[in-house]
Amino acid sequence: MAERSLIILKPDTVHRGLIGQVTTRIEQRGFKIVAMKMALVSQAKLDEHYGHLTSKPFYPEIVAYMTMGPVVFMIVEGDNAVGGMRQLCGATDPAQADMGTVRADFATTIRYNLIHASDSVENATAEIARFFEESEICGYERKAI
Ligand code: ADP
Repeated sequence: MAERSLIILKPDTVHRGLIGQVTTRIEQRGFKIVAMKMALVSQAKLDEHYGHLTSKPFYPEIVAYMTMGPVVFMIVEGDNAVGGMRQLCGATDPAQADMGTVRADFATTIRYNLIHASDSVENATAEIARFFEESEICGYERKAI
């Protein structure tokens, strides 16, 4: 069933010049990008987004990381987009991620792991509403051109 997932290419992806390579993998997989923008993440939105982590001792490190520069937000659409994008990212800790995933192929540390993908359809809906206005979402039908 068609789903949407909220993707964040984190500041390390931007700083390391990997936006294109990561985005290519998403497109090669067959997923459709229906919204995309570069922006800074505010601390308030980060606290909402990582609400499950704000009490962790390493949360200040996450804030420093996620606010060190711009990120790229995307909405990715397709069959099983939520599970498929998690699979494409790999495990949170790149050391545990399967080879062939973004995190295993491009990252080594759990904090600087390059990409966020929604972990459930319910969270995807909330995350999309948190980071995108309805008018920024560009649903379209693929044409054979
Ligand atoms: P995921 O991003 O795979 O959904 P989490 O929601 O558990 O994983 O964690 C959110 C982000 O917080 C991770 O992607 C990573 O950047 C950072 N993080 C998670 N655990 C740690 C940790 N133990 N130390 C430092 N940063 C962490």
